[in-house]
Amino acid sequence: MTNAPLPPSSAAQSARTILTRLHEVMASRTNAQGKLNQVVGIIGECLNSEVCSIYLLRDGALELYATRGLKQEAVHVTRLGLGEGLVGMIADQIETLNLDEAASHPDFSYRPETGEELFHSFAGVPIIRRERAVGVLCVQHSDPRRYADIEIETLQTVAMVLSELISNADLVDTAARTDAATADQSAQRLTGQKLVDGMGAGIAVFHQPRITIEHTVADDIEAERHRVYAAFDKMREQIDRMTSQAEFGVGGEHDEVLETYKMFAYDEGWSRRINEAIDSGLTAEAAIERVQQRTRMRMRQIDDALLRDRMHDLEDLSNRLIRIVSGQMGTAAQMGLRQDSILIARNLGPAELLEYDRRRLKGVVLEEGSLTAHVIIVARAMGVPVLGRVRDVRTSIREGDLLLIDTATGTLHVRPTQAVQDAFEARLEVSQKRRANLASLRDLPAITKDGVPIELMINAGLREDVAALDLTGANGIGLFRTEFQFLVSATLPSRDRQQRLYRDVLDAAGDRPVIFRTVDIGGDKALPYMNAGDSAQEENPAMGWRALRLALEREGLLKVQARALMEAAAGRTLNVMFPMVSEPWEYEAARNLFVGQRAWLASHNKKLPIAIRYGAMLEVPGLLETLDLMLPHLDFLSVGTNDLTQFLFAADRAHPRLAERYDWLSPTVMRYLSRVVKTVAGSRVALGVCGEMGGRPLEAMALLGIGIERLSITPAGVGPVKAMIRSLDLGALREAIPAILAQPASNPRGQYQDWALKHGVDLGD
Ligand code: PEP
Ligand code: MG
Repeated sequence: MTNAPLPPSSAAQSARTILTRLHEVMASRTNAQGKLNQVVGIIGECLNSEVCSIYLLRDGALELYATRGLKQEAVHVTRLGLGEGLVGMIADQIETLNLDEAASHPDFSYRPETGEELFHSFAGVPIIRRERAVGVLCVQHSDPRRYADIEIETLQTVAMVLSELISNADLVDTAARTDAATADQSAQRLTGQKLVDGMGAGIAVFHQPRITIEHTVADDIEAERHRVYAAFDKMREQIDRMTSQAEFGVGGEHDEVLETYKMFAYDEGWSRRINEAIDSGLTAEAAIERVQQRTRMRMRQIDDALLRDRMHDLEDLSNRLIRIVSGQMGTAAQMGLRQDSILIARNLGPAELLEYDRRRLKGVVLEEGSLTAHVIIVARAMGVPVLGRVRDVRTSIREGDLLLIDTATGTLHVRPTQAVQDAFEARLEVSQKRRANLASLRDLPAITKDGVPIELMINAGLREDVAALDLTGANGIGLFRTEFQFLVSATLPSRDRQQRLYRDVLDAAGDRPVIFRTVDIGGDKALPYMNAGDSAQEENPAMGWRALRLALEREGLLKVQARALMEAAAGRTLNVMFPMVSEPWEYEAARNLFVGQRAWLASHNKKLPIAIRYGAMLEVPGLLETLDLMLPHLDFLSVGTNDLTQFLFAADRAHPRLAERYDWLSPTVMRYLSRVVKTVAGSRVALGVCGEMGGRPLEAMALLGIGIERLSITPAGVGPVKAMIRSLDLGALREAIPAILAQPASNPRGQYQDWALKHGVDLGD
C-alpha cells in the first residue's frame, strides 16, 4: 500500500469527501458503536492509512473504542490514563502529535494486545468538546514517515465532526468528563487590582458565554459561506461603530485594543482560512472554531506575551463572530444566574452589570477596569467585590470553575484546593468579624476624638440602596444618582415611575435628608434607548454633551424630572443638586427651570415641597474660578472627586492604564480642595465631598484635615471611615496639614500614613 501525501490542492476536497461520508454515517440508524466502526474505516481509507483508531474518555481513562488496522480484541480493552502514552499525552495537553517513529518518543507506551509493533509512523489529534479533550483520533502507518500538514489538518477537521457525533450518541461520559476536567485542570492563582473591596465565592460565569457548536457538517456549503460573509459584515460594522463611539464596554475602549480588533476584523487571511474550512464541508460556526483551534495550537508553541495578548483579542473576535453567525447574542445576565456566581468580563458597562441578580452575584473579575469607572461605582453600590486588571482569565478559567475572590490580597483562586478553600473560609470569618465590629459602630456618632461632629452620608442610586441607611446608621443620602434608574430601564422612565422611586426613597429615609442629583447621563453612562444625537460621534464623551449640558438642552427630560421630584417630595424638603456645572449660568438656568416647574405645579393646585434646597456639584475644575459668584445662590456644594480628578489631571477616570497613575492624596488634589474650602468658608453654603475618594479612611482623614466636615460615601465605607473619625484628633491633624501641603513629600500618601500611624488613627487593614 502506498502512502503518498495528498497534494495541497486536494486538501479541502479530501476533507470534504470524508465529511460527506461521515455525514451519511451520522444520519444513519446504526448504533453508536457501529457508527464509530464505520468512521475509522472511512478515515483510514480516505487518508490511505493502515491504522485509524478512536479513543474516547471513559471513567477518566482513554479507551480504544474503534479501530481499523489494530487487533479488534483490543477494542474496549486497551485503556490509557490521561497523560499516559502518546494518546494520553495528546488528550492531556490538547496537542497534535506527528511522528515518523512512534516507539522512539519518550512517552510511547507499548500495548501488546493491539499489535501496533508493525507500525512506525503515528499521528494523533485531540477530539475536543467545550474546550476539553474527550477523546483522541489517530492514524498509524508501517512506513516511518511524518504525515503531511494537509493530512493533519484533515484529521483535525474530522475530529471536530467526531466530537459532534460522540456527543449526539451520548458517548461523552459525564463522569469521564468530570475526571478529565479535574485531571487536566490544576488549581491556579491569578492576581489583579482591588476595585471593590470584599471576598466572594462562586462558579465562573462568562458575561459573554462561549457557544457550543451543535452542527459541524454543512448541508449546503454555499449557504454557509453566505452566513459567514453576512456575519463578517455585521462584525465589521460593530467594530467600526465601537471605534466611533464608546460602545466597547465602559472606558476600556483604548485605541490599541480597537486597532487590533479592526486589524483582525479586516484581516483577509483570517476570512480566507474560514472560507477554506467551509470548503472542506464544515458549517460556518464549525469553520470559525476550526480556524480558531488551529491558531490556538500554533500560538501555544510561541512564548511571547505580546502575541498572547493579540491572540486573546482574536479569541474575543472569533467568539463574537460565532455569536453573530449563530444568532446567540445574549449575555449571561439574560440567561440568569442559577447559583452563586463570579462574573468574568473584559469590561462592563454599568447598565450591563445592573442586569445581574445581585443576590447571586458574588464577585466580578475584569480584565480591565479602573477605580472610578461608573461600573465600579455601581458594583460598590451593589456590594459586589471586583478584581480588575486580571490577566489570562480566558486561558485559565473555564465556565463553571469554582472561584474565590479576595480583593484584600488582590487574589483570584481558580479551582482552589481544599486547603485554599479552608484558608479562605477562615479569612472570610475574620473579615466578617471585622465587619460585625464596624457594624457595632452603627449607632455611635461620627465624631472625632476631640469632639468635632462629621456628617457621614451615603451615595445611592437604586431603590434597594436605601436599606444601607439603616444598616450603616448614616446621616442621610448625600448623593442619589438618579440616572441609575435610567440605566437599568429598557426605555426612558416615565414621570410616574420616577416619582414612585423618589417617593419610596424619601419614605425609607424618613427624617434623614436625601440629595437627589438630576440625571448625569452621557459620557460612560450612555443610554441605549436615547438617541444621543451628536454625542454618538464624540471623541471625548466624558468632556462632551453630558449631565447638565445635555439636560439643559433636553429641557423636556429635566422638566419631567423636576416635577417628579417635587411631587414625590410634596410636604417635605426637597434637596436637588445639578451635576457637571461648569459656569454659574448653567446652575442658574437649571434652578430657574425648577422654579418654573414649581410655579406650574402651584398654579395647578398640586401639593408642593415645603422647601427646595438647591446645590451644585463641583467636578469641573474651572468652576472654582467663579464659585464666589455662585455662592450667594447656593444652599450646598458637593465636590465630585471622581470627575474632578480626571479633569484636573486630564486623565480618563475609566482608563485602565491610568488607574493608578495619579493619587488623590497628591498635592495637586489636596491643594485644590483646600482652596475650595477656603473659598466657601464664611458663606452659608454647606460643603461636602461625594466622590469615591471620601470612602477610603486615609483619604477621608486628609479631607477632614483640610476642613471638609461632610462626606457622602459608598455604604461599605461608612464603618471604616467612622472608625477612622472616632480615632482621630482632628485639631492635631489640622495643625499638621499646612506643612504637608506646603512641603509635600515625593510620596504624599506615605506622609499621611505616617501621621496616622503616629497618632493612632484606625485605618482598618
Ligand atoms: C464624581 O464625579 O465624583 C461623582 C460623585 O459623580 P459620578 O461619579 O456619578 O460622576
Ligand atoms: Mg461626576
